[in-house]
Amino acid sequence: MVVNCEQVWHEVSDYLDGEVGVELRAAMDEHLRACKGCSSLLAGMRNVVSLYGDERMVEAPLGFSYRLQRRLEENSHPTRRTFFGWAVAAAATVLVAGSFEAARSYGLGRTPRSAHAQAGNHVPPDLMVLVYPEGKTFHAAGCPFILDKKNLRPVAAQEAQREGYVPCVRCMKQYLS
Ligand SMILES: [Zn+2]
Ligand SMILES: [Zn+2]
Repeated sequence: MVVNCEQVWHEVSDYLDGEVGVELRAAMDEHLRACKGCSSLLAGMRNVVSLYGDERMVEAPLGFSYRLQRRLEENSHPTRRTFFGWAVAAAATVLVAGSFEAARSYGLGRTPRSAHAQAGNHVPPDLMVLVYPEGKTFHAAGCPFILDKKNLRPVAAQEAQREGYVPCVRCMKQYLS
């Protein structure tokens, strides 16, 4: 038996409840081992469940308070099923929020060069950084935005800046304001 992501999302509350059959559970375990998306969804759900598992939910994650409140008004004793439905939605929101955050910081790395120069710059002058001969930015060793590792040249940050290089907004973020 093989399950896909959608089937996993569909069955995950039963899975956490221990209400899926042996064969389905094995197939889901198999999928969760291989699929990062589904395993982080499950981890997120476990988190929510352990935080709110007593079902006395005092405060709901952002955006869910209204819906939750309505649900509680409709049914003062929410069943485990509706609780898990809510938890799935909450965990999914965390995932979506996470990818927005990633997109946003990726966008930062693509800011036009002029913005770099204007950014407050507190890079330690004798920090060793890496520059390309033809590049405009300097990087910390191990920066994932270094594309061509062959021609990199190590140089002190103050020297790089004197030569007109500006700090990479990704790996030098901690020094920029
Ligand atoms: Zn999956
Ligand atoms: Zn960098």
